Amino acid sequence: MFNRHSIKIPVFNALVLLVCLFGFYERANAQDGLMPLVQSVRVGEHPKYTRFVMEISDEVGYKITTLSDPYRVVVDFPEMGWQLPKGFNPRMYGSLSGFRYGLFKTGTSRIVLDAKSPVSIKNTMMLSPRGRVKNWRFVMDLVPTSRANFLAQMKPAEYPAQAKKNVKATAVQTASVQQARVPAMLPPVKPQKKSKHVVVVDAGHGGVDPGASGVSGAYEKHITLAMARQLRDALNRTGRYKVVLTRDRDVFIPLRERIAIARRAGADLFLSLHADTFRDRKVRGASVYTLSERASDKEAQALAERENKADLIAGVDLSSTSDDLSFILLDMAQRDTKNQSSRFAETVVRDLSRSSKVLRNPHRFAGFAVLKAPDVPAVLIELGFLSNKHDERALRSKKHRAKLAEAIKTSINRYFNRIEEANRS
Ligand SMILES: [Zn+2]
Repeated sequence: MFNRHSIKIPVFNALVLLVCLFGFYERANAQDGLMPLVQSVRVGEHPKYTRFVMEISDEVGYKITTLSDPYRVVVDFPEMGWQLPKGFNPRMYGSLSGFRYGLFKTGTSRIVLDAKSPVSIKNTMMLSPRGRVKNWRFVMDLVPTSRANFLAQMKPAEYPAQAKKNVKATAVQTASVQQARVPAMLPPVKPQKKSKHVVVVDAGHGGVDPGASGVSGAYEKHITLAMARQLRDALNRTGRYKVVLTRDRDVFIPLRERIAIARRAGADLFLSLHADTFRDRKVRGASVYTLSERASDKEAQALAERENKADLIAGVDLSSTSDDLSFILLDMAQRDTKNQSSRFAETVVRDLSRSSKVLRNPHRFAGFAVLKAPDVPAVLIELGFLSNKHDERALRSKKHRAKLAEAIKTSINRYFNRIEEANRS
């Protein structure tokens, strides 16, 4: 099961401990689409281990992956509903420093646990309801270990088999869970005859990657999706565009897949929507970013680095992806795309400044991975800062978002007017 290659280079692999509960699939189907519900999550510190407990309305199978740099424990479940309070953030103890949850892809819900230091999985259990506890409980015990041991967890001997009679534990390995690996230089998949301009609107983050969280608890992923839908509706009303959203629900989409969606749709323009935070809570206003190998300023560089971590935050194993997006450099073919992106960004900045606050030097540039389609003009719009209470309140308001949507729509109209004029002359 483990080839020699993977044992020699353990860092390039991730251990997947696959625990199949017999009968799960049959029962899930019999439920006729009724999803198991997660009802509570807690972390407890015991003298010798850190215990993670998740209560679920039903018995589910699960798959555990460990990832290094940074240390993460990723557990995948079948798609579940989450009945946790809004902005839920359990206290972290012991070895754990962070917890995220959400839809990883259709059919798969995921939790990601950040570990401060290397941990090993001492024990995992799915306990049936008992006594006053009406739910099933997924229990995982973690103990501190050395980095060498963490990396060596891929050896099946490190994991004791489950004792439960109806549980079959097997260790398998996976090269990568990354979906949709699209060579960046693939020729465009554009349909020959198009009556409408194709605009792809990308709601940043989603699912297990919540993005930034605001001063009063708003999640970036919810604001970007609400904004994307309003912009789509505004564009559809013009009758000029075919609008494609990279996501229309609260689900994680890898950065590479966002680009692939744009290219498959034959995008003429790509807009990625975000609303991040800044350490200085007084800073507010929208800003527009285009792709560049060299960042315009320190803040833009830091922002791109944060945004490029989305896959890592969602627990995607990038270690075996040799063509990691962050290393793709611009080539000559991209220069024209880059110029068009910049022209569009300038237009957006002008139109946005008429209806809302914009940052000083509002057009900035940096190495955003999501803007790296070589043949699609692309901008990333930071709608405002969730770290600023005025911006956060505004972005939560449908009326304010409608104003932003109108401004961006005006820019898109101007951009394509110019292209149509150039084509006529
Ligand atoms: Zn973002």
